Amino acid sequence: MSNEKIAMVGTPCQILAASKINYYEKKTGGSSIDLKIGLFCMENFSYTYLKMFLKENNINLKDVKEFRIENNKFKVFLEDDVQEFSIPQTNSFKRKNCDICTDYTSNLADISVGSIGSPKGYSTVIVRSEKGNKIIQDLISNNLVSEKDTEEKSLDLLKRISNKKINNNLKNVKNREENSHPVIYKRKVSDEEIAKLSDECQFDCLNGDVINEGACVLCGSCEFVCPIDIVQINERKPVKKGTCREGCHACYYACPRTFATDKILPKDLDNKALGEYLKVHSLKSNSNTGQDGGIVSEILLYLLDKKLVKNVLIVTEDENNPWKPIPKLTDSKDEVLKAKGTKYSTVPIIFKPQTL
Ligand SMILES: Cc1cc2nc3c(=O)[nH]c(=O)nc-3n(C[C@H](O)[C@H](O)[C@H](O)COP(=O)(O)OP(=O)(O)OC[C@H]3O[C@@H](n4cnc5c(N)ncnc54)[C@H](O)[C@@H]3O)c2cc1C
Ligand code: SF4
Ligand code: SF4
Ligand code: SF4
Repeated sequence: MSNEKIAMVGTPCQILAASKINYYEKKTGGSSIDLKIGLFCMENFSYTYLKMFLKENNINLKDVKEFRIENNKFKVFLEDDVQEFSIPQTNSFKRKNCDICTDYTSNLADISVGSIGSPKGYSTVIVRSEKGNKIIQDLISNNLVSEKDTEEKSLDLLKRISNKKINNNLKNVKNREENSHPVIYKRKVSDEEIAKLSDECQFDCLNGDVINEGACVLCGSCEFVCPIDIVQINERKPVKKGTCREGCHACYYACPRTFATDKILPKDLDNKALGEYLKVHSLKSNSNTGQDGGIVSEILLYLLDKKLVKNVLIVTEDENNPWKPIPKLTDSKDEVLKAKGTKYSTVPIIFKPQTL
């Protein structure tokens, strides 16, 4: 681990993973992630099954200009056509592991960003920490972004959508638990109990408790924290090749789907549609377009420009596979701009470059 600060962008589960790695630093080795920009997230897709679905509908991924989920439709933008699919049609490529996730607005981020709650072309920005607040205030006062008043009815819509995810997925958690599939990260367990249980666990427990239970979100943390590099994440799941180091429990502590202390993940967050926050803004970048208001990219450019972080952890596109997300750690503003836009599929963002 290097001491040079990193800002990351990720979905709520990836933000939880980064929070756990740093909170349980003594067990995991920690990371240099210092600022977390979280995305809103209702669900995520499997790249392989998304590709298959599009092929069945005569759409080649290389012809797709943009994906967008709006007005209850999954929209695929082509050169001069837009193909629309209903949300139930996305079930064939939706990751079922998302159905126990109750965080819509990235509750644990410093700044959360999404489209719902703002007019088209703007991003809804939820500021949660003083550090995040300073960055957003600087963007506004330096005229790098434009602000619109946040309307009460748009915020109500955002809260309704978030509550819908929370309530639907709490039902799924209950159903799984009733069928004796443990949903460990939702269990209320004391810190002492977490330490006792986790200190008995290595990768085999992770396999039994998370991966085989259909709870793995493919965040990458288990691979990242493994001190002897025996975990590899393939298209579908993490696998271990080799024997664990005696006394190591790093992957079990780091995983966002194992026990999480109330100090990181207060269980009462399920009663707060937008989590804990300081302020909500509607913003758009004055110089870049993005998936929505281009705010994520604008924040990253600002952080690099002001040297507030050494590198940023982003999700860009695989050059040989259109729309296949790949994580990248970079200090290049061109790379940040290239990574604009949402790639709707999972990616192990917490990966292993030397400096992370
Ligand atoms: C899987 C997924 C589901 C989402 N669902 C919702 C939703 O239900 N409602 C909603 O309002 N918003 C949702 N979003 C967020 C939304 O699509 C935009 O990412 C967000 O509004 C930021 O827009 P922007 O213009 O500010 O970002 P931009 O400036 O365009 O930057 C986008 C950033 O997103 C990162 N990124 C792209 N793909 C991924 C990925 N697969 N995983 C992690 N990071 C990625 C890139 O690193 C890039 O820096 C979702 C995003 C993802 C990745
Ligand atoms: S588990 Fe799924 S729904 Fe939840 S944040 Fe991760 S990708 Fe999004
Ligand atoms: S050595 Fe084993 S227990 Fe430790 S991180 Fe690697 S896989 Fe997990
Ligand atoms: S098993 Fe590994 S990749 Fe899957 S959620 Fe846990 S840490 Fe992330």
